[in-house]
Amino acid sequence: MIGQCLCTSVQFEVHGKLPNLYQCHCSLCRRQSGAASNAATIIPLDQFSWTAGESHIHVWRKPSGLSSHFCRECGSPVPNALSSDSSLMWIPVGLLDGVESEVVAHLCCDSKADWDNSLDVGARCFPEMPDDLREFAFFLKGGQQLNRI
Ligand SMILES: [Zn+2]
Ligand SMILES: [Zn+2]
Repeated sequence: MIGQCLCTSVQFEVHGKLPNLYQCHCSLCRRQSGAASNAATIIPLDQFSWTAGESHIHVWRKPSGLSSHFCRECGSPVPNALSSDSSLMWIPVGLLDGVESEVVAHLCCDSKADWDNSLDVGARCFPEMPDDLREFAFFLKGGQQLNRI
């Protein structure tokens, strides 16, 4: 599956089956996406490769440790390794074509904007960010339910 940023400078490929998706409704993801939430998934690093434009990526880091990786030409958010576990890649799914996976989780529902009415029935709501993102990635793949939270 092929993904690209708005200006097509940055391109990448996801190998194998794309896991299910989540949307995060926290204030940081709102600012980064400009929308009520982002839409993303998490895959193992070996399922990912850059095919063009890695040198176009700019990284902005917040002192708290959060980072935003984006195309410096067009501003699209682009994939990046999780700061807490570099063997996992965060994938903003709006850059991919032909996605058939479904949104199965909404994160940080306790801090969503008052005007955000995008929580769909059927997907699981988490009040905050799950502590264990490796376990969360397994959940997105259709593995067992997260038993904490
Ligand atoms: Zn771009
Ligand atoms: Zn967030």
